[in-house]
Amino acid sequence: MSIAVNFERLKSDLEELRRIGLADDGGIYRQAFSESDILAREWLKAKLSEAGLIASSDGAANVFGRITKPDDSPCILIGSHLDSVPCGGNLDGGLGVLVALESLRCIKENNIETKHPIEMVAFSDEEGRFGGPLGSLALSGEITPEDLVNAVDLYGNYLKDEMALHGFDVNDILHARRNQGMIKAYLELHIEQGPVLDKEKLNVGIVEGITGLRKWNIRLIGNADHAGTTPMKMRTDAFSGLAEFAGEIPRIIEEHGSDESVATIGKVDLFPGMANTVPGQVEFSLDMRDIDNKILDELSDACRRALSAIARRRMLMFEFDIISEIDPVRCSKDIIDVIQDTAESMDIMYRNINSGAVHDAQIISRIAPVGMIFVPSKDGRSHSPAEWTYWEDMEIGANLYLQSLLKMADS
Ligand SMILES: [Zn+2]
Repeated sequence: MSIAVNFERLKSDLEELRRIGLADDGGIYRQAFSESDILAREWLKAKLSEAGLIASSDGAANVFGRITKPDDSPCILIGSHLDSVPCGGNLDGGLGVLVALESLRCIKENNIETKHPIEMVAFSDEEGRFGGPLGSLALSGEITPEDLVNAVDLYGNYLKDEMALHGFDVNDILHARRNQGMIKAYLELHIEQGPVLDKEKLNVGIVEGITGLRKWNIRLIGNADHAGTTPMKMRTDAFSGLAEFAGEIPRIIEEHGSDESVATIGKVDLFPGMANTVPGQVEFSLDMRDIDNKILDELSDACRRALSAIARRRMLMFEFDIISEIDPVRCSKDIIDVIQDTAESMDIMYRNINSGAVHDAQIISRIAPVGMIFVPSKDGRSHSPAEWTYWEDMEIGANLYLQSLLKMADS
């Protein structure tokens, strides 16, 4: 039997969700554990109950929905996240959660019984207000009591306090862990957040791999001298070291990277930061991504060598801290095959694609095989009110997701 999502219902869900955390600038402000984030989770639970589904949540405040009561048999987990970055869009995460909700409703309404139970999830803090993607890390059991005590946002607000405000106990996050084998497979639909599918006028992308990431904080240290009295030859100018390194990045990628490699210096602080003083110190971020861990290692080595050489030549001191290291992930070949066969049987225009952004699927891959479907982002825009996907592509993506899910749940 062929069933399809009720797209009008999905559209109206999206519109209701959009109003939660919507500000005058058109952006969505649903940062994890903010008032609007909690409202969105309550709204989702109400939607689940309204549809006759069983709603629940765990110690990490992840929200779950099921058709049947939870039991010990491994489930097919589906979902995404409801939190947003400040001034984000409504589709990043939200679309994946609502497509999961709509799929569950469809399956229930059509009285379809699947071999494996299906469970939907809206993960907590995917955007990492408090560091990592909290909800999926909790499920995969990779959070320690120490992480919980120290988790703090950019403004110095502690996770434990923000959770307590809403009646949650931070220590309960440790109870959210699922054992290996409890999740048979995980499927997530997400917007691409990049321009490839839109440019190529395709309806969906089937994700093959999710990028790995290395994030460094780098310092070059020289001397802060008078900008008028210090001759050029006698300076140890930290900024000139950064400038030279930035200029070398394209060569480093060319020689040591792949077509998928990217490196970004996104944040720079100069000290003392005055127009009439030679910058004696520069602190900057370096974000390197690739789909292959070996290439990431090579890129990291090449950057470190380049920085050392520049520092030596310019009499600067060079230090760096590793801020984060997330390994790249391959999506499950079996799940890719299921989605691909389904897309072909539905005459959907698709391509295989890699994800340049981090997703919950990446974390869940540590305890279960994962698959992802991308729908196009208009002009590649995301994390902004300009984020948009054509209705047609959303509907095609949602139906591909539903059909693939049914196959996964019966295999
Ligand atoms: Zn997202």
